Amino acid sequence: MRAHLLVLGGTTEARALAAALADGPARVTSSLAGRVAAPRLPVGDVRIGGFGGPDGLAAWLRAERVAAVVDATHPFAAVMSRNAAAAAATTGVPLLALRRPGWARVAGDRWHPVESLEAAAALLPGLGRRVFLTTGRQGIGAFAHLDGLHFLARSVDPPEPPVPAALDVLLDRGPFTLDGERALLREHLIDVVVTKDSGGAATAPKLTAARELGLPVVVVERPAPPAGVPVAESVPAALGWLAARGLTPR
Ligand code: NAP
Repeated sequence: MRAHLLVLGGTTEARALAAALADGPARVTSSLAGRVAAPRLPVGDVRIGGFGGPDGLAAWLRAERVAAVVDATHPFAAVMSRNAAAAAATTGVPLLALRRPGWARVAGDRWHPVESLEAAAALLPGLGRRVFLTTGRQGIGAFAHLDGLHFLARSVDPPEPPVPAALDVLLDRGPFTLDGERALLREHLIDVVVTKDSGGAATAPKLTAARELGLPVVVVERPAPPAGVPVAESVPAALGWLAARGLTPR
């Protein structure tokens, strides 16, 4: 019987991994949370929706006879990553976390690192009045009470209340270009940017554009990954981990 591999997805890297594993010795199922109305789908089998916590995931791993799990969720999907670690520990199924590195500050960056969206909101009034908010639609509520500021929020799907009173929404998804980001910041007279430290190339141009324009950037730091789970920082590194288990195409 073909080995079964579960990729917890929702990222560019998860889709690249599923593509690299196509036609290999393992049957690959990619899992999506179902947050995005029209998600970019990976190649291969896809399941959508939660598992029902760590116990639900453990039951799924057993029922589906999963040989290994790659947690390729977004670095801020901390609950799913914790659940994956717990389910792997319960079932003994090997687990790898695929996490692209965070962004590195370069000369000229005016970054303000904070621990949470709430801390970002607390800092904003001292930094600017016209905010480019790129932390995703689910976190917009943390800024809803900031009446004196104007927000331009970019997200894949429209945010739901509570949202700030002065809010323009830009529905879009990466990758974004430097020219586009520069033009956007200028056109909307943005004077401060808020981002998660998502890492990766697709959404990094906003950081370069902000640096060029001398704008402060509030950077929400990543939650700590679960202890004891091996981490690969790239798709090739994850493929190396899978190759050692005979799960990659020749
Ligand atoms: P989260 O808070 O860590 O997870 C909350 C719950 O959503 C989990 O307990 C799980 O439900 C379900 N879930 C999350 N990821 C799942 C997956 N890949 N497959 C099946 N169920 C999943 O997650 P989140 O931050 O809302 O992120 C949701 C999805 O969006 C993830 O796939 C992530 O990769 C992607 N994403 C997140 C961000 C971000 O900034 N957080 C950005 C880009 C993409 P059960 O407990 O019922 O299993």
